[in-house]
Amino acid sequence: MIEVMNLIGGEFVTTSEVFDDISPIDNTIIASVPRTKSADSAVIAAETAALSWGNLSLIDRCKWLDRIADALEERIDEIAELESLDTGKPKKVALNVDARRSVNNFRFFANFGREMKDEIFVMKDATNYVIRKPIGIVGLISPWNLPLYLLSWKIAPALLMGNVVIAKPSEITPLTAYILGKICVDIGLPDGVLNILNGYGPEIGQKIVEHPKIKAISFTGGTETGRQVAATAAPLFKKLSLELGGKNASIVLDDADLEKTIPGVLRASFLNSGQICLCGSRILVHSSIYDSFISKYLEGLKDFEIGPVINNAHRDKVLSYIELAKSEGGEIIAGGNIIDRKGAWIEPTVITGLSHESRTATEEIFGPVVTIHKFDSDSEAISIANSTNYGLAGSVWSKSRGKSVAEKIESGMVWVNTWLHRDLRVPFGGVKDSGVGREGGMWSISFFSEAVNVCVMED
Ligand code: NAD
Repeated sequence: MIEVMNLIGGEFVTTSEVFDDISPIDNTIIASVPRTKSADSAVIAAETAALSWGNLSLIDRCKWLDRIADALEERIDEIAELESLDTGKPKKVALNVDARRSVNNFRFFANFGREMKDEIFVMKDATNYVIRKPIGIVGLISPWNLPLYLLSWKIAPALLMGNVVIAKPSEITPLTAYILGKICVDIGLPDGVLNILNGYGPEIGQKIVEHPKIKAISFTGGTETGRQVAATAAPLFKKLSLELGGKNASIVLDDADLEKTIPGVLRASFLNSGQICLCGSRILVHSSIYDSFISKYLEGLKDFEIGPVINNAHRDKVLSYIELAKSEGGEIIAGGNIIDRKGAWIEPTVITGLSHESRTATEEIFGPVVTIHKFDSDSEAISIANSTNYGLAGSVWSKSRGKSVAEKIESGMVWVNTWLHRDLRVPFGGVKDSGVGREGGMWSISFFSEAVNVCVMED
C-alpha cells in the first residue's frame, strides 16, 4: 500500500482527507491519495521559486531536464511496474510506451532547448529580435490513460522555458507522478519549481484553473471537461491549451497492402485497450475488400494482448455503448462481453452494420470497441471520416492515394500507412471538439513562453 503525497515547495505533504487508488487488474486498493482542495500553498511555493528558476540560463535548465531524464531512466522498470498496476495495461506497453516515452520527453526538450535558434527579423533600417520570457506559474492537468507520459510531455517544455509548475495528475492514476516528484527532490531540483497536487478534478483541478496567479493552463482530458476548463480560464485571459477527445477514423482504401494494414489497424484499435485519444475506433473499409479485411482482422485480433479498462465504472460505460450499438442495429462480430475475472476486464469488441451517423459511431467510447463501415469511393470515405464533431487524428492505408485522402481529413494529425508514429518535433493537437492549440517541438515552446519582440532602429 503506497501513501501518495503532494509535493509542495520541496516537501511531501498530505491532506486530512484521502481516498483510495484501485488497480483495475483485480480491484485491490493499492494506494491512498490526498484529497487536496486548495492550490494556495503550492502557488506560494511556486512564486518563491519563479524568479531564480526563470533567471537560470536556458542551457542550465536543459541540464536539469537531462538530470531528470537520467534519474527517471534509472528507475524505468519501477515506473513501468507502477504504471501497469495503476492503469492495468500490460507491462510491455507500460515499459515501451509510457515509461520510455516519459524519459524521452525530458531528453527531447533538453536537446530541443540546446538547438533553439535566435529569432531575428531584419528590416532595411532596423532589426527585430524575439525574446522568450517565462509565463510564470503554469497549471498542468492530465488524464489517466497515459499518466506519466502525458504529464511529462507538459512538464518538460514548461520547465525548459523557465516556468514553475503546479501539476495535477488524474486522481485515478497518481502513482508515477509521485515517483517523478521523489526523483526531482532526490536530484535536488530547486524547491517549488515542480509542485504536484493530487485530488479530484472538480475540486483541486478547478482551483488550479481558476487561481488568478496561475497564468497558463495546459489541459489534456475529455471534451466536456475541456469546455468547463475553457469557460473558467477564458475570462481570466489565461493562455490555454486543450488536448481533448477523439473519434478517429482508420481508412482502408481498395489498394491497401492488407498484410501491413491489418496489424496497423488492429494496433490503432486496441492498443492500451482502445484508451488512447488517437485510437482509430471507426474503421472505414472499401467495399471491394470489405469481406477479406474483416476475416483477416478477426484472425489477427485473436493474438492481440489487451489489459482491463481503467475501472469498473468505465467498463460499465463501455458496456452501455455495446448495448446501444445493438439497439441501433449493430451486429457484434467479436467480443461484446465482460471477461469473467476480478477487475475491469472487457473483451475487445468489433461491431458492423451501423450507420456512420449512429451514436455508437460518432461518440467517444474510449475503450476496446470499434465499428467497421463500408464505403465505395475516396470522397465517400473522406465525408464519413469528417462526419463527427471530433477532429483529432486519423490514418489512411493505401499504396498510392494515402496523401491525397489524408490532406482532406479534418483533424490535427493524419498518418499514412502507419499509426502513432511519433516525432516529438511535429505539432500535436486537434480541431473541432478535439481541442484548441498545438503542443510538440516549437509549438510547446511557443505555448510555454511569452514571445516579446524588441525592435532596434539602426543609427
Ligand atoms: P477527464 O476530463 O475526466 O479528466 C482529465 C483531468 O482533468 C483529470 O486530471 C481530472 O481530475 C481533471 N479535471 C476534471 N474536472 C476538472 C475541472 N473541472 N477542472 C480542472 N480539471 C478537471 O478525462 P479522463 O477521463 O481522465 O481522460 C480521458 C479523456 O482524455 C478522453 O476523452 C481522451 O480522449 C482524452 N485524452 C486526450 C488526449 C489528447 O492529447 N487529445 C490524450 C489523452 C486523453
